[in-house]
Amino acid sequence: MGAHPDRLTIALQKNGRLAASSLELMREAGLQTMKSANDLFYRVENYPIDILRVRDDDIPTLVRDGVADLGIVGRNVLAEQQDRAGPGAEPIMALGFGHCVLKIAVPEGQPYEGPVALNGKRIATSHPNVLMRFLAERKVEADVVTMQGAVEVAPRLKLAHAVCDLVATGATLEANGLRAVETVLESEAVLVRAPHQPPHQLEQLARSIEQRFRGVTASRGAKYVMMNAPKSALDRITRILPGAAAPTVTPLAGRDDMVAVHAVCQESVFWETLERLKAAGASAILVLPIEKMM
Ligand code: ATP
Ligand code: MG
Repeated sequence: MGAHPDRLTIALQKNGRLAASSLELMREAGLQTMKSANDLFYRVENYPIDILRVRDDDIPTLVRDGVADLGIVGRNVLAEQQDRAGPGAEPIMALGFGHCVLKIAVPEGQPYEGPVALNGKRIATSHPNVLMRFLAERKVEADVVTMQGAVEVAPRLKLAHAVCDLVATGATLEANGLRAVETVLESEAVLVRAPHQPPHQLEQLARSIEQRFRGVTASRGAKYVMMNAPKSALDRITRILPGAAAPTVTPLAGRDDMVAVHAVCQESVFWETLERLKAAGASAILVLPIEKMM
């Protein structure tokens, strides 16, 4: 289990789009990471944890084979590798960053009337397995060309008629004169662990790290909202509060008709929400950030 039996190993992308957010998650979960002389590892100072820094494509294999106990990787990478023999690294929690969508795009002006339009076409992609499954499900026969990067230039180079590429904002497609026509897969960063893990002396540490990641992920965007409200408006106010289950209601000294309402809102609290609360009779409304949650 792990590269060291007495240390937990977490595999993270070394450079690239997930690298900074993955390290940030470690930090917010209370792990103090320290660069070591060895570029392959970072050491966590306050826990027996090593961070293994690798290419994202290697993370599912390292976790499946137990070289790393946990890993952070895009759902798209897991999906692309899922056909390999035996059970692979198992996604256990979405982490709320690294959002992107695998899309099929065609040159602007090229007509497109559904997947049949791809019959007999060449499609360039860095996700051939995911794309071939998508096409097979729709009974489309196309020629899939695998490229490691710069997929979006393939049509201009006359290498392909269409592309299947990861898109976050769409700016890259637009800059290359391409138009998205199909959504193949929605992705974000996920925490993975090995399937069928044997009992492990660091099992408890692994579970506690997972708990903390859940807490960090849940508290991002969540807010603590406090206000005074007329008792008669409680139902209305609870319905306005975004993603709050059961607010805490306490009496206000010297006021029989008023109460204090405290609630954790799981979703963003916008100015419009505050205006609606005020219109419902709330006053002294405060919105506070939440630092930690468990
Ligand atoms: P590595 O050198 O580690 O192999 P890479 O070039 O394969 O890196 P990156 O471009 O750093 O990978 O992307 C890593 C992951 O970030 C992707 O697999 C995907 O899950 C996610 N991602 C988020 N937004 C985008 C985007 N706009 N384009 C590509 N990937 C994105
Ligand atoms: Mg990669």
